[in-house]
Amino acid sequence: MSNTENKNVIDGYEPVIGLEVHAQLVTRTKIFCGCENKYGAEPNTLTCPVCLGLPGALPTLNMQAVEYGIKMILALGGEVRQRSIFSRKNYFYPDLPKGYQISQFDLPIGEGGVIAIDVDGVTKDLGVTRLHLEDDAGKSLHPEGSGDKYSRIDLNRCGAPLIEIVSEPDMRSPQEAYAYLSKVKQILQYVGVCTGDMEKGHLRCDANISVRPVGQEKFGTKTELKNMNSFKGVERALNFEISRQIKTLKEGGSISQQTLLWDEKKQVAVAMRSKEEANDYRYFPEPDLTPLLVSDSWLEEVRESLPELPNARASRFVTEYGIPEYDAGVLTDTRHLAEYFEAVAKKSADGKLASNWIMGELSRYANGGEFDFAAPHVTADDIAHVIGEVKAQRISASFGKQALKELVAEKKALSEIDFAGNQMMSDTGEIESIIKNVISANAEPLERYLAGNVKLIGFFVGLIMKETKGKADPALVNKILREKLESRRT
Ligand SMILES: [Zn+2]
Repeated sequence: MSNTENKNVIDGYEPVIGLEVHAQLVTRTKIFCGCENKYGAEPNTLTCPVCLGLPGALPTLNMQAVEYGIKMILALGGEVRQRSIFSRKNYFYPDLPKGYQISQFDLPIGEGGVIAIDVDGVTKDLGVTRLHLEDDAGKSLHPEGSGDKYSRIDLNRCGAPLIEIVSEPDMRSPQEAYAYLSKVKQILQYVGVCTGDMEKGHLRCDANISVRPVGQEKFGTKTELKNMNSFKGVERALNFEISRQIKTLKEGGSISQQTLLWDEKKQVAVAMRSKEEANDYRYFPEPDLTPLLVSDSWLEEVRESLPELPNARASRFVTEYGIPEYDAGVLTDTRHLAEYFEAVAKKSADGKLASNWIMGELSRYANGGEFDFAAPHVTADDIAHVIGEVKAQRISASFGKQALKELVAEKKALSEIDFAGNQMMSDTGEIESIIKNVISANAEPLERYLAGNVKLIGFFVGLIMKETKGKADPALVNKILREKLESRRT
């Protein structure tokens, strides 16, 4: 066993984790009716007889949702089942007025696929079992601290289109689960089918978790963890549950199959119910929907519409723009960032310089909320212009940063920036005479320099840069200054 596998072992036990990710699709309307699919509207204003499950109302499948599902399974490298079936999943819940969810059970639209993750520099392929389409339930609101003694129900989300992506039990640590989830979110965003916003519930995740003694093939009894509202929450909940299971087993107890709710405030997982088996849901084919057929031509059309995916794009950036793998990974984090980088790199014809400025200055503004790669208020051409001026040594790097500040933070136009007045001093003669004057005016520091305090060169550089208002090329100043100082040794 390699060291990397050993690292995941705790007290002789190895965790086994599988994730079920629900992603809400960004279609205009819901999956089986024409109601708007929108977050944040006034409660219970986006409903109709179909999504409320009123008697006699019939569902009509939203083909945009199907297309998004196909896109995602293709992006994961899985297979599209060209004839899939919708089933009813029956259960009672206050925010599920139909009394059942329309989902896919034995014949889902997508199967298989792989997600490659990178944890601590080690790459690992994690399997995807299946992807299916389903409708969402409404939302129960329990307004904490508002003094409201009732729970309220908002049915706007009823019938919102979801895809559920089920992984193989391939993860061996909470870190791997975190990396998997990040990758799923990244691919969803690249493909453009889901916002990936976990706080708004657009992306939700349940985890199946068990532990087994190292060396044992057979999986231990698993529990299901629900109600995790952030990526870090998933990691924390998994850590909690792994410790709990190991402790229970070490004390001679056994794990019972159950569903646990993660309480982020108290940092504990609380038993919600004993886990249902599939047959508790009394699945049966949805009688109001015909089998879903995907033609060869449609499948091809969707395949061709797929954008370049993050890993492929990162490798291309390395070869095409000559940037390090690390940079390529950072710059392909989101599709918008990747597109912005590529536009700047093309225009400036210098990939590494474009990468440095985007990962440095521009990302700093983005992190501070002053710049948004998804909706940039400064064009890639303008950024490339600034980089080009620095590269050609017409302006100093420090004025380059100043120019960027004026463009990004002060929202100035490129034409308002004083490039002409900040031209770097390239006239060697002019620089030489300034250096001469500075040396003559500082006889005492010169003596100390000549006596062996060579660090004083920095003092002279500072004065010269001040004298030239930062417009002299520092490398050139250093070169000439050193020559002039050394020539004083007689
Ligand atoms: Zn509706």
